[in-house]
Amino acid sequence: MNLIRLLLLALAIWLFTLVIKRYLALARRKRGETPRIGAMVRCAVCGLHVPEAEALKRHDQYFCSTEHRDQASV
Ligand SMILES: [Zn+2]
Repeated sequence: MNLIRLLLLALAIWLFTLVIKRYLALARRKRGETPRIGAMVRCAVCGLHVPEAEALKRHDQYFCSTEHRDQASV
């Protein structure tokens, strides 16, 4: 019986940390911070700076959106 209680407690703690982590990640996103961002790159069309991970790349150029990527190819 004690073991089951212990397991339930561990489960509760695990769920609790999961919720906290999700909450912290959401709060961070709301503040506009992206965790572990790499280099910022510049959109070749409008000059907007976007994280490299979110930028669209074609050849040696980066773009902020699909619209700008398509615009540049015309
Ligand atoms: Zn752009």
